[in-house]
Amino acid sequence: MELEELTISQVHLGLVKKKFSALELTKTFLDRIEKSDKKISSFITVTGDLALSQAKKVDDLISQGKKIGKLAGVPMAIKDNILVKDVRCTAGSKTLENYIAPYDATVVKKIKEEGAVILGKTNLDEFAMGSSGENSAFGPTKNPLDLKRVPGGSSSGSAAAVSANISVFALGADTGGSIRLPASFCGVVGFKPTYGAVSRYGLIAMASSLDQIGPITKTIEDTKIVFEAISGKDPMDSTSLEFKSKKPNIKKLKIGIPKEYFLKGMNKEVKKVVEAKIEKIRKAGAKIQEISLPHTEYGLATYYIIMPSEVSANMARYDGIRYGYLSKKPGDLLNVYLKSREEGLGDEVRRRIMLGTYTLSSGYYESYYLRAQKVRTLIQEDFNKAFQKVDVILTPVSPTIAFKLGEKSTDPLTMYLSDIFTVSVNLAGLPALSLPAGKVNNLPVGVQLISKPFNENNIFKAGEILE
Ligand code: GLN
Repeated sequence: MELEELTISQVHLGLVKKKFSALELTKTFLDRIEKSDKKISSFITVTGDLALSQAKKVDDLISQGKKIGKLAGVPMAIKDNILVKDVRCTAGSKTLENYIAPYDATVVKKIKEEGAVILGKTNLDEFAMGSSGENSAFGPTKNPLDLKRVPGGSSSGSAAAVSANISVFALGADTGGSIRLPASFCGVVGFKPTYGAVSRYGLIAMASSLDQIGPITKTIEDTKIVFEAISGKDPMDSTSLEFKSKKPNIKKLKIGIPKEYFLKGMNKEVKKVVEAKIEKIRKAGAKIQEISLPHTEYGLATYYIIMPSEVSANMARYDGIRYGYLSKKPGDLLNVYLKSREEGLGDEVRRRIMLGTYTLSSGYYESYYLRAQKVRTLIQEDFNKAFQKVDVILTPVSPTIAFKLGEKSTDPLTMYLSDIFTVSVNLAGLPALSLPAGKVNNLPVGVQLISKPFNENNIFKAGEILE
């Protein structure tokens, strides 16, 4: 096996047995970024010096005979909306093109303490708003499995880098599917933890009641290792919690298949791949049961009201004064704001600010934002009821395989439809994993496994059988 193909646990074993050094491994990956990433554009910033110095520290520990953790010396990448101290953090936007992060996000602090090697910051849809990876001010990321297609968004660079063996694993963030959709399109494992399981401190906020950081890896075993390292209560994020997930027994695992997720409009081949996986898990001894999540059809509409409302508030700080690009010739004070925002922010971001400002404005607040919050509760209750009967819910991640670059970028509504199977999970705050399930026209299809809050082990158990 080539060095770049190794998983986290294989890297760990290789380092401990001294088959290769962390420095050698890191150089292999930096070399791959240099050579292979030109075609894919998965990185915005490469942190070569930081990576080499971290790798050297790990090699020193090994040569001194010290015990190293599972992530020590493992080359990895971080979505460019998560802060790494003294490194540029762009969020894929012109407005933050020259922004240098003043501190480490809590996940980054933890990853550094574990000794992981940070290769750089990965491309994303601007401020994580998008489903294809095409909305970045630094140009689109391409799907490494077919360069004419999108990798999925918004954690486009993180998923593409892991898929192309340019990074062993990566961190992404998921507000409505941004870890799971690109993982599915690129044929890797993507995990969105329970809301509150991982600290959001140092994550550039998109929609704060929905955002969650999580790993993108090659295997479920690797996902577990990263999740273990980054989760837990953080005094800097009051929505984070300490928790313990119980060990499940697969013979007793009940899997629910929600009938609302197998729509008419879904690609037939994708549906076949998902159904074959359901058969597989049935044969492994799990009990399969049809369930109903009756408010599923309102998920997308609810998300596309609540999310932009929160976005419009979170984006207020990029005014050219507090944060972000300042217009060169603004004229008067009002135009400092107007022109800086107009010139610094892309179309999709401005569209969402306008939508969110509208849904929160007096006279419309009750009919849109408040109403959407009520539907959000109904969606949560659907899941609560379902989890009285089953332990894990299995669905497709997306109704299609990776689509062509440019195919949906001029039609926002068609683009939003890509999120139809992923957004309800964020509205309900649940953990969910995207796992490669098979291929259609040689391109990967993912299945989604969802569980009760803080029951991530049920997902991992079911996922290991499918894997
Ligand atoms: N694709 C969804 C959106 O555009 C989700 C984005 C995300 O999870 N960050 O809003």
